[in-house]
Amino acid sequence: MPKENKTLVPKTDVVLIGAGIMSATLGIILKELNPDITIQIFEKLDQPGLESSDAWNNAGTGHSAFCELNYTPQKGDSIDISKAIKICQDYEVSREFWAYLVEKGYIKSPSSFIQPVPHMSFVWGKENVEYLKKRHQLLTDSVLFKGMQYTEDRDLVKQWMPLIMNKRDTKVPVAATSMSMGTDVDFGSLTRQMIAKLASMPGVTVHYNIEVEDIDPYKKGGWIVETKSMITGKDEDCITKFVFIGAGGATLHLLKDAEIKERKGYGGFPVSGLWLKCNSEELINQHNAKVYGKASVGAPPMSVPHVDTRMINGKKELLFGPFAGFSTRFLKTGSRLDLAKSFRIDNVLPMISAGLRNVPLTRYLIEQVRLSHEDRVEALKEYVPSAKKGDWELKQAGQRVQVIKKDEGVKGKLEFGTEAVVASDGSVAALLGASPGASTAAAIMFSILPKCFKKESKSEAWQVKLKEMSPSFGLSLAKDEQHVHATRERTNKILGLQ
Ligand SMILES: Cc1cc2nc3c(=O)[nH]c(=O)nc-3n(C[C@H](O)[C@H](O)[C@H](O)COP(=O)(O)OP(=O)(O)OC[C@H]3O[C@@H](n4cnc5c(N)ncnc54)[C@H](O)[C@@H]3O)c2cc1C
Repeated sequence: MPKENKTLVPKTDVVLIGAGIMSATLGIILKELNPDITIQIFEKLDQPGLESSDAWNNAGTGHSAFCELNYTPQKGDSIDISKAIKICQDYEVSREFWAYLVEKGYIKSPSSFIQPVPHMSFVWGKENVEYLKKRHQLLTDSVLFKGMQYTEDRDLVKQWMPLIMNKRDTKVPVAATSMSMGTDVDFGSLTRQMIAKLASMPGVTVHYNIEVEDIDPYKKGGWIVETKSMITGKDEDCITKFVFIGAGGATLHLLKDAEIKERKGYGGFPVSGLWLKCNSEELINQHNAKVYGKASVGAPPMSVPHVDTRMINGKKELLFGPFAGFSTRFLKTGSRLDLAKSFRIDNVLPMISAGLRNVPLTRYLIEQVRLSHEDRVEALKEYVPSAKKGDWELKQAGQRVQVIKKDEGVKGKLEFGTEAVVASDGSVAALLGASPGASTAAAIMFSILPKCFKKESKSEAWQVKLKEMSPSFGLSLAKDEQHVHATRERTNKILGLQ
């Protein structure tokens, strides 16, 4: 991987800040839509995809809402499945976009980043069993979730997830769902392959070890992106028509620097993640699924526990978590001062108010930080009753920055989703938040195009190309059996998921 600095191009059409999955996705989409477009990518590290997008830093779940119970919250007596439908549709868009990359030869081997791994949900206790049964009934009404199996039969659950049923209390009722078409995605590998492709395209330069320090309006229109070399300390400017801030957790700082009115009221709260990583080959081979449970009372949605089969660098792995850790950094490689630096006049009240309105979350985080290895293994035993502490070790995951958004008046609301902030003239876009994050990168990027490239997006040439990259984007798939069946059959084949 390149360590040297490439000569900075002083004028360009597009600057992408950060070489994570988001910038990589937008870069390829723009280059496919307009092969003449010039793009500069600035990455402060010496390789792409090393922050949240790297395989060990996230859970690698191809979020399609098959198993994630936080996407189908209980509301009174009913269950809201609207978020699950949206995420599932968005994931179809990602599958189509990745299939396009494979068909074009941009990615040689789909197995280098995506693998079939069944997605399962597992619950225990009467109330939770009722919930899962109802969730299954509601979801399978839509073709998107067709094929999802539900069972309360312990023998069948044991076949699906032997590790989880081994030594489990037989008096407590259990239930599970299984969707065989779930996926595990190595977003780090995918990012690195996309950035390598971009770097080979005419008009694209990827600059490593270059940190973007500021974004200022340019008097003749567009933006001046101020950069600093992490190696030589040299400052250089790049003038651009459009900037995408895909800096992961650091996006919030850069959004503040680009003084657009849409940034007002946004704040962020960092939550670091920790996994228990299994070091026993025997146990790793006994499990073949992503098994998601229910978050405990007071826990935030991103803390939903899961026992996860992963494929990383061609090797099968097994993770449990995530546990939350405390860090004031906005990136794993960020500064301890990140949180303090993010306070501004326009967000200080929403940030304080979000803190006061989320006391159970604060309490949960304090409890999590105080956990010992033994405590974490006790939590794991709720899922893997036979777990022994010597078979599991702690591994640091990525850093999430949960978005705090101005609600009514000066109040702040903590958001757990992924959010694109776009300037009214479309010349700056920024991506905040984590879940469902990387899995829905393609749909997020397609949806910002009409706001940032208004005229071009309406052209026939762009419309045709967009359909080629994702035939499903913009369609409502929940009841379109023929379309869902056809697109899944096609992408399964191209992505080697059959
Ligand atoms: C614990 C955890 C579990 C997760 N699980 C899942 C999951 O199962 N499925 C899923 O789809 N998503 C998951 N996510 C979310 C997913 O990882 C993120 O949504 C996604 O990786 C974000 O990509 P990005 O490109 O925005 O950011 P990143 O991958 O963080 O990339 C940002 C890049 O910007 C660079 N950068 C930052 N500041 C600057 C600067 N000033 N100048 C130049 N470069 C800069 C960084 O070095 C980095 O390379 C998870 C996240 C975490 C933390």
